Amino acid sequence: MLDGGCLCGAITYQISGAPIVVAHCYCRDCQRASGAARTTGAMFRADDVAIKGTMAEYKAAAESGSTVSHLFCATCGSKLFGKNTDMPGVMTVAVGTLNDPNAVTPQVAVFTRSRPHWEPADARVESFEAQPAWKPEDGV
Ligand SMILES: [Zn+2]
Ligand SMILES: [Zn+2]
Repeated sequence: MLDGGCLCGAITYQISGAPIVVAHCYCRDCQRASGAARTTGAMFRADDVAIKGTMAEYKAAAESGSTVSHLFCATCGSKLFGKNTDMPGVMTVAVGTLNDPNAVTPQVAVFTRSRPHWEPADARVESFEAQPAWKPEDGV
């Protein structure tokens, strides 16, 4: 069982299943939304994630043409979750919001074409210049 929450504590969550994939994302949208060079997200079956608290949502168009929802705490601004209309039934959890970020291990990096020169690459994971053609049911 994994758990976590936002900076102010208004949003908390518990996750019952194992992650489908854990990925670093260097896309410009993640950089702007987080203020950091990359985000690291763990994808789970949405049914496995139980959330307490009311979140704000911001929707943005992805490069693929799908719509990405950024779900965040309206009080403290922590971004906790992401959803993509291309991948119904799953959601991404920002692993920095886990109570124990060491509980997961990144496996891939995507959109490395926009990794800033000052951000070291993670040589331990498979890297993709953009979004690989991959669906959750394919596994890693
Ligand atoms: Zn909060
Ligand atoms: Zn991204």
